[in-house]
Amino acid sequence: MSKLALFGGKPVRTEIYPHSNSIGEEEKRAVIKVLESGNLSQYVGSWNDDFYGGPTVRQFEKDWSGFFGVKHTIAVNSNTSGLYACIGACDIGPGDEVIVSPYTMTAGAIAPLIYGAVPVFADIDEDIFCLDPKSIEANITPRTKAILVVHICGHPTDMDEVMRIASKYKLKVIEDCAQSPNAEYKGRKVGTIGDVGIFSLNYHKHIHTGEGGMITTNNDTIAEKVQLIRNHGEAVVEGKKTKDIYNTFGFNYRMTEMEAAVGIEQLKKLVPLVNKRIENANYLSERLRELPGIIPPVVKEGCTHVYYMHTFKYKKEITGVSRNLFVDAVKAELPLMRLRETTPIMGVGFAPPLYLQPIYQQRLHKCSFNCPRYEGEVSYERGLCPVAEKMYFEEVFTHEYMRPTFTKKELDEVLTAYFKVYENLDELKKHESKNAVAN
Ligand SMILES: *Cc1c(COP(=O)(O)O)cnc(C)c1O
Repeated sequence: MSKLALFGGKPVRTEIYPHSNSIGEEEKRAVIKVLESGNLSQYVGSWNDDFYGGPTVRQFEKDWSGFFGVKHTIAVNSNTSGLYACIGACDIGPGDEVIVSPYTMTAGAIAPLIYGAVPVFADIDEDIFCLDPKSIEANITPRTKAILVVHICGHPTDMDEVMRIASKYKLKVIEDCAQSPNAEYKGRKVGTIGDVGIFSLNYHKHIHTGEGGMITTNNDTIAEKVQLIRNHGEAVVEGKKTKDIYNTFGFNYRMTEMEAAVGIEQLKKLVPLVNKRIENANYLSERLRELPGIIPPVVKEGCTHVYYMHTFKYKKEITGVSRNLFVDAVKAELPLMRLRETTPIMGVGFAPPLYLQPIYQQRLHKCSFNCPRYEGEVSYERGLCPVAEKMYFEEVFTHEYMRPTFTKKELDEVLTAYFKVYENLDELKKHESKNAVAN
């Protein structure tokens, strides 16, 4: 049995992983063409044809609509601004509540606060980590206006149930698809099932433009509002003869022509890039399933999982070693990735339950929490979402050793690292009990 790298042994691999790069000649040529045109962004913030942006942005939107099979796509400069625009476009405001997930990145809960509304956290499903429809329904009040679902880690939310609840209580459904482009739920792509979907094109996502976001909808009213919010909407309501101006005060959420040029090429690569992730993740899952206490991702019937992350559950009762020590031991066997040297591609917990952040604990946004129009009493107590807390503090760990650039040899090294750590569980147990005594 070879000594663990964590205890000074030789790691399974030391050579840093190459950068997982999907930007090629196609993107370079497309950006150069834009640069040569001199037209880096054609938007104007007044009522005129260029209110909707330049030719490359519009082409990218058209391509995106075609791929996803939706009536409208609106390009923005990030998924975060997309979330904000969609909350505004759904007419959410002071006194309203939006049901959100605690197990996601921060923007998913801040979005309602931007418009003076209050985020209400429902708990997640313990197999797929998306919002649990039972908890959504239990959290509905007369103030609820929308459900903001997040197809987290690449797996779709249970949309049949979400849509049933939404129609029963007349709520809007916003889908955060930042981690799940091309994931399908019963034959439909996520982002096309609710009222509106939002995709991220930031550097870490399946495909990227550096920064960027895409909003998909079949709803003409939402599409128009999002376009107004994207580009200083208040200035054009007269020229445009906009009838409903609620929440149309605008921001600058515009995407440039260069990002759109990259996006057009990246979209063509989405299917192969996603499929390679699925193939790599399946290869690892099938072998890692042999290790008792390590539970690879669940894929629900009728769903495709697009593996933004490879997310495992870990049972300390079975291995006898704490999750964090186990993950430290695996991490020590494998190198970092180029251009990701400050953030390892393996970690524990995924996302700390958002309501534990100071902004909620101290209710720092007075316009929402102390609004005279708000008649509810929202809770952000520790223990509010027991499943999310258990996943974060005890059970979940994630890695990205299945990115599309990973070769078969590299995947086998990952397996070797896991199996090596597993063979050394007794060493880890001894280490842990020694430390427990020392403490
Ligand atoms: C990345 C991400 C976002 C934010 O996307 P940006 O484009 O960086 O603003 C929002 N939600 C989820 C679930 C994400 O993964």
